[in-house]
Amino acid sequence: MIRSLVVVGMVSLLSVGASAQQKGRVVIIGVDGMDHALTDQWLDAGELPALAWLRDQGSFRALRPTNPAQSPTSWASLVTGTNPGRTGIFGFLYRGIDGDDVVPEVAMVGRGEKEVVSSGLKTFCWIGIFLFGLLILLILRPRKVTQRLEGGDARKWRRRNRIAALVAIAITAFLLLAARYVFQNLPESISVPVNRLQAAPFWRTLDEEGVKVVSLGAPCAFPAPDLSCGQLQCGLGVPDLRGTPGTAVVYEPGGNGATQMGSQRRSLVWSSESEYTFTLDGPRDPLNPNQALKLGGQLVLTAAGADLTVGGIVTQLTRGVFSDFVTVTFSWGELRGEVEGIVRFRLQSTDPPVLYQGPVQFHPGNQLPFAPVTFPFNHGGFLTEGPYATAGWPSATGPYQDELIDDATLLEQVGLLAARRSQLTLRAAKRDDWRVLFSVFSTPDRVQHMFWRDIDPEHPNHDAEQAKSRGNVILESYRRIDRLVAKLQTDVLKEGDVLLVVSDHGFAPFRRAVNINRWLAEEEWFALKDGSEASGPRSLEEHLGTKAAFGDVDWSKTRVFNLGLGRLWLNLRGREPHGIVAPEERDALLTEVSRRLLEWKDHGRSVVRSVTRGEALYSGGHVDEAPDLVIGFERGYRISWNACLGGTEEDTVFDNRTRWSGDHCSVDPALVPGVLLSSRKLPDGDARVTDVYPTLRALLGLEAVEGLDGRTLTETR
Ligand SMILES: [Zn+2]
Repeated sequence: MIRSLVVVGMVSLLSVGASAQQKGRVVIIGVDGMDHALTDQWLDAGELPALAWLRDQGSFRALRPTNPAQSPTSWASLVTGTNPGRTGIFGFLYRGIDGDDVVPEVAMVGRGEKEVVSSGLKTFCWIGIFLFGLLILLILRPRKVTQRLEGGDARKWRRRNRIAALVAIAITAFLLLAARYVFQNLPESISVPVNRLQAAPFWRTLDEEGVKVVSLGAPCAFPAPDLSCGQLQCGLGVPDLRGTPGTAVVYEPGGNGATQMGSQRRSLVWSSESEYTFTLDGPRDPLNPNQALKLGGQLVLTAAGADLTVGGIVTQLTRGVFSDFVTVTFSWGELRGEVEGIVRFRLQSTDPPVLYQGPVQFHPGNQLPFAPVTFPFNHGGFLTEGPYATAGWPSATGPYQDELIDDATLLEQVGLLAARRSQLTLRAAKRDDWRVLFSVFSTPDRVQHMFWRDIDPEHPNHDAEQAKSRGNVILESYRRIDRLVAKLQTDVLKEGDVLLVVSDHGFAPFRRAVNINRWLAEEEWFALKDGSEASGPRSLEEHLGTKAAFGDVDWSKTRVFNLGLGRLWLNLRGREPHGIVAPEERDALLTEVSRRLLEWKDHGRSVVRSVTRGEALYSGGHVDEAPDLVIGFERGYRISWNACLGGTEEDTVFDNRTRWSGDHCSVDPALVPGVLLSSRKLPDGDARVTDVYPTLRALLGLEAVEGLDGRTLTETR
């Protein structure tokens, strides 16, 4: 035993010393939400043998997330090695200003306009057509000379000349009309997604240095960048084909309306005997952005389930089982072509008939040029066995939270996602043409969000019997990662290679929901226009990216407001559209708000653990976009759903009785550390998400670069 410890120690020391010179490969498995405490507990219990191998021969550390500990923010810092003041990603939501309104927008992807046909191209076309007409005239006109030489009569050649002129005019006119028709049927410009990540991620910087990086599920990467040698598939941040974070639909007789988390209930219309029809919404029509392109669907119930027809494609559905991806094709009109999407269906029941449809996602094999989800565009490397989920948040957590689907549906879907990502990762790994392989798994995060109540007896929605019957689904989501690591260990890793497992944050219970707007109103820092105490409920469909979120706020009486998960802005004069707080009042007001937040008690317990000013947390060129205050709640507390999007509720703090029972987003980052597991021994010390990129450089034998906020963990400090 002692001898083996000495050997392990010697190997470790050698590894540390050799790290800067060795030029092996590095595999980074990113696991969204892998919690340090749970991992530690299950490593000790022998539940995760492959990860324990990593810990025992290398290192296992807590990895400190960004503040706030929100996935977009933390991943952005992890892949760039810089703080949010440089990445520009301060949370899930971005504080947009549209005219006189504050609009909560998706932080990772903004929108830009792209001219379809520029005025320059139009002018070029018109001139080109005239010149073409002239050329035809010149080609036809030499007859005049021939006729003269042959001494033909003048009338004849004049007539031929007139015919030539008429032909040239006719062709020119036809081309002009055709061009006009084409231009009229194309939109002048279309709305295109724009990546809001402001710092360079490692798949770009390493690519520029000639290091081939293959990335799967890369967060904050959409639209996919052009690379010189790397390959990339975008992850967190990719919208669905409708441009939303992911709109799922449940079709049922009489179904109607949107849910809080952005899903929809739609009608299934009985047409005859066992036959029903429905309408499936696709992307917006670029010529008429208020309208969605639609497809008719038909559902015919059979003994085994149903025959589903959408856009002419028939799929047989078995009751209670997800279909394979179905390709749906929407037409943008004859001239503007078609757009393809992929979607899974699940027949939930037959009496009454209930059909679940996941979000319509970009087709990875037939993408839109202005919204690529992979680089190379439409590349086949990851595609050999048919389509895979491309949406940034494909897990059906929203429909499950809204109680549109049951445990079995969510767990089946999460299992499919994890299996496919594992398969793609192993296939890419075995190709052996990369120096860095980066693959991100999101399913442990999604499972913990929904089933934390199972492992938390204090949770208001804990049901011991349900928890028992489900089994430990969180542990199972960790075991999937463990099985992947085992396969990488046996089939992929060679001597000199390093394997890292990293997560963007850990987890905490979400027992009590906090309506921060209500609290601000009680402190007389926030007010609604009609003077009422509560506003209407908020939903992603109606309030994300729209003016409706803050439409009922009385800005003339509001000095502080919340946007997103626990981030406060002052209604500052000169910055906000209706600012009333004078710049010279700012410091005192921030001090006062922070003091009151830290004094806040819920049944004698502190609600807030930390309040930090944006300028103290961040540095870099985008600090002016940061919130004035970032709240770190105590364990158990999180911002309420309605408060995220400007809504006010009757209670300030109340029991969270929903399925979404674990979280990290507005929890003090010190309480929700993620993990860093490394096959190579790392010296002891704190580790932060910003340290991963500098450490990756050192593991590849590359020089440190300026302008990063993280430190190299391979060096003793
Ligand atoms: Zn996350």
